[in-house]
Amino acid sequence: MAASCFAEAVVVDAGARRRPFDFSAAAGPLPAPVAAQVAEACRDWRGLGSVLGLPFTSQAFAGLMDQTRALLRDQLGIPDSHELLFLQGGASAQFALVPLNLLGQARGAAYVESGHWSRRAIAQARRHGEVLVVAHPGQRVDARAAYLHLTSNETVDGLQWHEWPAVGVPLAVDMTSDFLTRPVDWSRVALGYAAMQKAIGVAGLTVVVVRRDLLGRARAGVPPVFDYAAQAAAGSRLNTPPVFAIFVTHEMLRWIAAAGGVAALALATAQRSARVYEVLDRCEAVFRVGVPVAQRSRNSICFAVGSGMRTAADNERCIAAAQAVGLHGLCGHPQAGGLRAAIYAGTSDAAVDRLCDFLAAFARGHSAP
Ligand code: PLP
Repeated sequence: MAASCFAEAVVVDAGARRRPFDFSAAAGPLPAPVAAQVAEACRDWRGLGSVLGLPFTSQAFAGLMDQTRALLRDQLGIPDSHELLFLQGGASAQFALVPLNLLGQARGAAYVESGHWSRRAIAQARRHGEVLVVAHPGQRVDARAAYLHLTSNETVDGLQWHEWPAVGVPLAVDMTSDFLTRPVDWSRVALGYAAMQKAIGVAGLTVVVVRRDLLGRARAGVPPVFDYAAQAAAGSRLNTPPVFAIFVTHEMLRWIAAAGGVAALALATAQRSARVYEVLDRCEAVFRVGVPVAQRSRNSICFAVGSGMRTAADNERCIAAAQAVGLHGLCGHPQAGGLRAAIYAGTSDAAVDRLCDFLAAFARGHSAP
């Protein structure tokens, strides 16, 4: 069976071997023009030498950081009421830093438990205060909670919250895997954080957007580099910022702005994921999407081959057949199994075309009696 699926997929798109596409959830692809600019800047940037050696103390870097902030504010409509911080440590560091910076005198906070990453956030928060777990962001929350934490897109589970809920306490959102592929209502979101490697850059930069009135509540003992108020006062330059990661984010933001901005990207992401789900639903005899339609993620499409009697070996065969035609990174998270296609800002229509063709061909080969 595997051989026939593989053969059919190759017939559908023999050119795929020449041009691989990556759907890994761990890191998003850089569009070709951005990758070319980054490569050139590693050789020379604006006649200053390699961007890799750009001192963070230079005028040039100060300008780059200011422009990156301005682009991000513009693209995401971040109002003056919110501070914009460039930190390090990834989104996982924020799992601890959000409670350490926001709990203040409160005993605890509320967390929506919706999957793998919200559970990770909850585990960290429990080390610093009481955690009230709720199943849904619409659920009533004790007004004494310092904040309600939400994972806007559960990267491992393929589930996304499509609305920004109105809640009676500050809303803190992990936006790591859908950052910039949807607009944000900052009148509802008090804090948003995202590691850049999926959305618009490379590992090393974590963006935190936080309402200014929430600054200054850090618990005693929080290192200054992780104290939101201290970093805000220092313009995120309390220590050496991740220069190269900020540069890549800057290039991605320029590319997004030129391509129509977040509104265009949100539409493209919705259309791209809809096309993949359409094939999966059409081929329901072969593929199974476990997430209810209303909560399906536009960024993390999680599915499996078959149901009932079929086994993990079928998923493995599908992943191997995809790899053989140049479609990489489709295996699901180790704890979830199955398959997963990540649709991030840099994912192209060509990649999605190729994926849809492959899935349809695989289903034809697989469902044959
Ligand atoms: N939050 C979400 C929603 C994620 O998808 C991930 C990584 O996949 C993380 C947090 C952890 O990010 P990091 O590896 O930058 O700590």
